[in-house]
Amino acid sequence: MTDVLIVGSGPTGLTLACGLALHGVDVRIVDQRPGPHRESRGKSLSSSSLRVLEQLGVAARMTALGNADLVFRKYFDGAHISDTPFTDVLFMGQWQIEEVLRERLAELGVRVEYGTRITGIHQEADAVTAQPAAGPAIRSRYLAGCDGGGSATRKLLGIPFEGSTEERSMMVLGDVSAPGLSREFWHQWFTSDGAAMLLCPIPGTDSFQLQASRELDADGEPLPPSLESFQRLFDRHARMPGIELADPTWMSTWRVNVRMAARLREGRVFLAGDAAHVQPIAGGRGMNTGITDAAVLGRALTSALSAPSGPTREELLARYETERLPAAAELLADTTQRLERVLAAVREPGRGTEAGLR
Ligand SMILES: Cc1cc2nc3c(=O)[nH]c(=O)nc-3n(C[C@H](O)[C@H](O)[C@H](O)COP(=O)(O)OP(=O)(O)OC[C@H]3O[C@@H](n4cnc5c(N)ncnc54)[C@H](O)[C@@H]3O)c2cc1C
Repeated sequence: MTDVLIVGSGPTGLTLACGLALHGVDVRIVDQRPGPHRESRGKSLSSSSLRVLEQLGVAARMTALGNADLVFRKYFDGAHISDTPFTDVLFMGQWQIEEVLRERLAELGVRVEYGTRITGIHQEADAVTAQPAAGPAIRSRYLAGCDGGGSATRKLLGIPFEGSTEERSMMVLGDVSAPGLSREFWHQWFTSDGAAMLLCPIPGTDSFQLQASRELDADGEPLPPSLESFQRLFDRHARMPGIELADPTWMSTWRVNVRMAARLREGRVFLAGDAAHVQPIAGGRGMNTGITDAAVLGRALTSALSAPSGPTREELLARYETERLPAAAELLADTTQRLERVLAAVREPGRGTEAGLR
């Protein structure tokens, strides 16, 4: 029987796995994906995340890869208005962060078990059994559900996910190349009607993360993301003829989703990261909060596993929810306010997403 089974190998699950393995805990980590992804998604590491990553021995690798001197270039109705240097966070793609963590985990002797989708969880007095869609059941002393906003772990435990989800998605997202566009800036185009297009360079690649207000059809219905739609949005906002977007490696949509789990623990099973809370992306706090969740849960599990059974162990395990449930509530309130600040700021020439970062 393994000590801890981690379901999900995003930034939360990988941080937790590295922390546990570093302390000699016997850990397994599974993911339903067939292999690693290449999506830029969460692209800013905060100083608090870097402190956690330092303890895992990977802060220097992240710093070498990321961009700590990104300048936000703001345009309004097509005209370049201002440049704002921003040095408080380290910018890089989420897939790059995960790659460094996976590499560290392999050094610690653990590999992500891909193609393993957990579909059942059964708890007993001294163990928890997870059932993959295919293959043998996995028994562990504890299980950490780090399986993202749609968390199967949370659903299997019947833990309510309280809050609200906007019916319509607000933005299209993607990773594209834009040959000819300067890679020194996070380009942010805004228009007086509140529409936006952002292109942020992903360091060490030819790729930019694209975020844009949705394109509507003649009936006012949002069009699905596509390279052609991205190009029309770019031409309308940037007015830079000759720049052709290409090589889309990821295309998605994003809607405002503000929810948190009613509990972070059920017996031997814990929730962390997006499985425990989903929030507006303004301020870039989602992934960073998952990394903190993982650090706190890692400490609780490590100390509980070496403590004698009984009240002491129980108290050590209870600390995780006591600390992180209020943190999740604060995150939801804070990122909702940050989103409001950004949506107001971008209607003022010269302002941009930094309104949500401060
Ligand atoms: C455009 C965009 C920009 C963002 N920018 C930022 C930012 O700047 N800063 C920031 O902090 N955050 C940002 N975020 C949010 C960030 O991406 C998420 O908060 C982060 O991915 C959460 O990490 P996680 O590990 O908790 O979950 P995920 O990354 O969602 O990982 C969950 C994993 O679990 C696996 N899984 C799911 N179900 C199962 C199952 N049943 N069995 C096995 N495996 C399963 C999935 O395959 C996945 O690999 C952004 C998000 C988007 C979309």
